[in-house]
Amino acid sequence: MTSSLLQKSDGVVSSTAARACRFCGATLRRTFVDLGMSPLCESYLSPGDLSRGEVYYPLHVYLCDKCLLVQLEEFESPEAIFSDYAYFASYSDTWLKHCEKYCIEMKERFKLGGGSFVAEVASNDGYLLQYFVREGVPVLGIEPAANVAKAAVEKGVPTLVRFFGAKTAGELAAEGRTADLVIGNNVLAQVPDLNDFVGGLQILLKPNGVLTLEFPHLLRTIEHNEFDTIYHEHFSYFSLISTVKILEAHGLRVFDVEELKSHGGSLRVFACHADSTAHRLMPNVQKVLQDEVKAGLDKPEGYESFAEQARKVKWELVDFLLKARGQGKTVAGYGAPGKSATLLHYCGIGKDMIDYTVDRSPHKQGRYLPGSRIPIFAPEHIQETKPDYVIILPWNLKDEIMAQLDYIRNWGGRFVLPIPKMMIL
Ligand SMILES: [Zn+2]
Repeated sequence: MTSSLLQKSDGVVSSTAARACRFCGATLRRTFVDLGMSPLCESYLSPGDLSRGEVYYPLHVYLCDKCLLVQLEEFESPEAIFSDYAYFASYSDTWLKHCEKYCIEMKERFKLGGGSFVAEVASNDGYLLQYFVREGVPVLGIEPAANVAKAAVEKGVPTLVRFFGAKTAGELAAEGRTADLVIGNNVLAQVPDLNDFVGGLQILLKPNGVLTLEFPHLLRTIEHNEFDTIYHEHFSYFSLISTVKILEAHGLRVFDVEELKSHGGSLRVFACHADSTAHRLMPNVQKVLQDEVKAGLDKPEGYESFAEQARKVKWELVDFLLKARGQGKTVAGYGAPGKSATLLHYCGIGKDMIDYTVDRSPHKQGRYLPGSRIPIFAPEHIQETKPDYVIILPWNLKDEIMAQLDYIRNWGGRFVLPIPKMMIL
């Protein structure tokens, strides 16, 4: 990394370190949003950690003027973030239904059967591949976190404990293990070496195979003000415009795209080898690209309003909490998702504002949120303590959570939704 002094002007940062775009290598000069400092969002503390310090990193997001990739600098080695990852994907009913539906759709659309091979990168605890196994389709999961991979193997999902990139893909290809369907769900954002990873996807794909990638759609992130989906584990934030460019650079062609409701609005992108004629271009690709152009995402100026929207949420949420606590009301959280760390740190909210939160995952119960050190209990704690307000931290699951917690109405409890804007429900 070289040092330089950059000129200060609107939206342009001043710094001594030149940051390079993780896709095209151009110098990053333009701030998308600066969310201050936050600890790594999945570093839940155990009681024994409470006497120790925590490391905070800047959450400063840049926009590459040249390729329009929105991105964070890499601060921590991927091993430090993912090797003991506490996140087990199988703890949300909504998410599991989404995955089962995906498997059945892919099996029918691409005629997958006992002679096919499906590979998933970042396969977590086998939350998705288990449905292909049930349908009799051979699979392989590739997952770097040993503790979650173990849970996958126990479910009957063969899993290779490895980081994925061109090297791993090359080794599998050399063994003849290229795939009819390569799946990358909610992983692209978490890849520090984007070019090596996408290069690996291309190597792992059979000549007429299909690659599907799911990721939060930057257009929706901006539109719905989902600034809390920005955290250190997510290095990149994709529009379809930037995705098409990145895949093309690695010999892959986007032939279809679906817009999904998951994670506040995601894209499922379908790609194949650039020279494959097995998959014809579907009209939705052009439609989504046009939506992005309409929103201004084809030029740097289209990204400017986001930072102001984030500030507005902060002011309104803090205002609500100050008033509620001032009136002697009690406030609890629901959920301990990674994104809660960004929201709480950006807004400066600690356990003097939110007494505790609850989570269904036994891996999080008895631990503490990073930084704010808000304790995490089992969901029954809400029934026992009857708080006046419950702030829903994983707002993308709000319908499911409000149905599960409907009983808080019995004591006059209300739900608080921080995003897209502060609402009391
Ligand atoms: Zn770039």
